[in-house]
Amino acid sequence: MYDQSTALLSEVMGGNIHLGYWRSDEDHAPVEQATDTLTDMVAERLALTPGLRVLDIGCGSGKPAVRIAGLHDVHVTGVTISAQQAAVAGARPEAGENSGQAAFRQADGMDLPFADVTFDRIYAIESFLHMSDRAKAIAEAARVLRPGGVLVTANPYQQGELNAREAEIVAANRRLFRIPPLGDADDYVAHMDKAGLEVVEVLDIGENVRRSHALAAAAVRQARGTFDDAFAEQLSEAADIIERFGAVPQIGYGIIVARKP
Ligand code: SAH
Repeated sequence: MYDQSTALLSEVMGGNIHLGYWRSDEDHAPVEQATDTLTDMVAERLALTPGLRVLDIGCGSGKPAVRIAGLHDVHVTGVTISAQQAAVAGARPEAGENSGQAAFRQADGMDLPFADVTFDRIYAIESFLHMSDRAKAIAEAARVLRPGGVLVTANPYQQGELNAREAEIVAANRRLFRIPPLGDADDYVAHMDKAGLEVVEVLDIGENVRRSHALAAAAVRQARGTFDDAFAEQLSEAADIIERFGAVPQIGYGIIVARKP
């Protein structure tokens, strides 16, 4: 799915492929700034110091990784299941073996190609939600993290029961973005416990990010004109699904921070 949609998704989300954060209704930051703010909120919780080795699980087109590497002078390795994303991210001027700052490769978050205790810090922005075996993905992160290291993850989740109409909307969104059952904050915390991590913060920012869905839907509708009729029609449907999903009140969003003892 991301092999095909990365260019469009990055365009509608300001280069990042994640939701934006707005402080309040009066915060009118453009989507590019709001999505960078979310990256910065994740980075803040990583307690970075120069030279640390950082893993980005599900790195998208690499924008968060190069931002974090550049602002904090750390070495970020980004992995993504999408070969196309790995190529796009690797082509960034800040990327590559010689940059010493950000490097990208295709790999599966549920089966990381790294030795135990390889990284000082790990983050995963809107990637665990896609993984069919989330427990395995979090256990893999715990395995490659060093003792004393920190894992920060940000994901949409579902808090509470859905009525039939809401369930249909959520199911449509899950089909569109290839998402297994969303789970709630407690599910993530349970996976972390089981992986031997200590959860130190669960921050629900559902209302701060909610605007993202409607803005993304509007941007997708705007982009329709550049495609042929059949694809434009699919984009209209996708935009409707995205907008309705964002309006389901039980859809929350959490940043979860855990430490490896
Ligand atoms: N973190 C990026 C991209 C988020 S989009 C950003 O914030 O901009 C979701 C990402 O998860 C994509 O890069 C997708 O390829 C990745 N992903 C989904 N399943 C994965 C898996 N099993 N292993 C590695 N990456 C995965």
